[in-house]
Amino acid sequence: MCGVVGIFNSDDAAFDAMLGLFAIQNRGQESCGLAVSNGMQIKQIRGLGLVKDNLTESVLKEFPGRIAVGHVRYPTRGTSDVNNSQPHVIETLEGTIFALASNGDITNYATLTNELKKEKVNFNSGNDGELLLRFIVWHHIVKGIPIIECIKMVMQKFKGAFSTVLIGRNEIWGFRDPYGVRPFSFGKTETGYAFASESKGLDILRCENIEEVTPGEIIHVFGDNQVERFKFGCPEMRNGRKGHSHCVFEPVYFSMPDSKQFGICVYEARKKMGQALAAYDKDLQADVVVAVPDSSNIQALGYAQARNIPFEMSLIRNHYVGRTFIKPDQRGRDESVKQKFNPVISTLKGKRIVLVDDSIVRGTTMRKIAGMLWKAGVAEIHLRIASPPVKFPCFYGLDTNTKEELMANRMEFEDMPEFLRVNSLKYLKQEDLSRCVNNTDDNFCFACFDGDYPIELVDVSF
Ligand code: SF4
Repeated sequence: MCGVVGIFNSDDAAFDAMLGLFAIQNRGQESCGLAVSNGMQIKQIRGLGLVKDNLTESVLKEFPGRIAVGHVRYPTRGTSDVNNSQPHVIETLEGTIFALASNGDITNYATLTNELKKEKVNFNSGNDGELLLRFIVWHHIVKGIPIIECIKMVMQKFKGAFSTVLIGRNEIWGFRDPYGVRPFSFGKTETGYAFASESKGLDILRCENIEEVTPGEIIHVFGDNQVERFKFGCPEMRNGRKGHSHCVFEPVYFSMPDSKQFGICVYEARKKMGQALAAYDKDLQADVVVAVPDSSNIQALGYAQARNIPFEMSLIRNHYVGRTFIKPDQRGRDESVKQKFNPVISTLKGKRIVLVDDSIVRGTTMRKIAGMLWKAGVAEIHLRIASPPVKFPCFYGLDTNTKEELMANRMEFEDMPEFLRVNSLKYLKQEDLSRCVNNTDDNFCFACFDGDYPIELVDVSF
């Protein structure tokens, strides 16, 4: 999970890129960066931490230019250092300069990297974005292939997920893998065009005519706002499917509810998930519905409205927690959860609660939250999860831990309520989740639930 933004033909591209990144900060808080072209050279800044702390007004003043690419990072491949941050920039001996940022993981990363290393191409990071940039620039400079043809080669050779922005001195390309795994939007600004991982990154720029970059599409913007578009069909997938492979975890958890993607509104999809969970519980007696904030708020609201049970914000989240602070003697206690959530006891004491969360990965956080709620005096906890059990790791851009760490792999369903310290547990069934995201044409990836990986896993195994 990462976020990318691209800006073309803006009076202050750095500021616009910062605004877009700020709006999609939910996609990554580890590092951020941008690269800006002033028509002659591209200048880059990258830093660990949040957009508001790195891309300040005084910093942005040093980056005049009309074209920009920006990135927020959530680490998946590569270690947590600034070299793995994006955008990546290349200046060649010929003086040509490009910058690129991408969201998604490449499953044949090792194979493609080794091919380039044999051609004496050096890498500074272990990051998919750098591989994309070096692949394109090497074929362009050394082989003399036009950039657009190099990107077409990416579409054919790269397996996995990439929603990518590439800038040159005077032009920009946005392109998305043919499977359409990660979201990617394109819109018209007042003076030019913009790309963003989520549509809300374009809303903040007051874009009009916001649309999704189609899976397998390359959009090239150049000159006086000229736009050319190229489209590739979806390649056949491992399981013989022909549709796309949109990540269903995006509407379940990653994306913000005010974004639209994969042809659906995330808010509406989440509400349907809550309603579907409510339909399993016609006979359950409960006093209050509580969300694990913030990502589960809408699912909990959908549940509460469907069953006509009061919805309370009984867990208050501290939005200023970045990393948690734990002294050595506090390890193993509930400190990380305590720093993140605080219960409103008056809304919980003596109540039979339905607790709604979007997903369970390792189960340790949920166990701690339940402990906190028991201490607050609840009478019963009925846990409802707005997705199926997570049993398999993701290789397309989400850090879902190893298979062994996943709770649904470690234990039988019957043993989960006791481990989680809840009275009852229900998961949203896959067929119901599929309906909630309007998956009528088999266009979604559910691999972390069913292990049916749609895109070839060339250099990875599980
Ligand atoms: S494996 Fe899961 S998280 Fe990864 S792309 Fe598929 S649905 Fe999304």
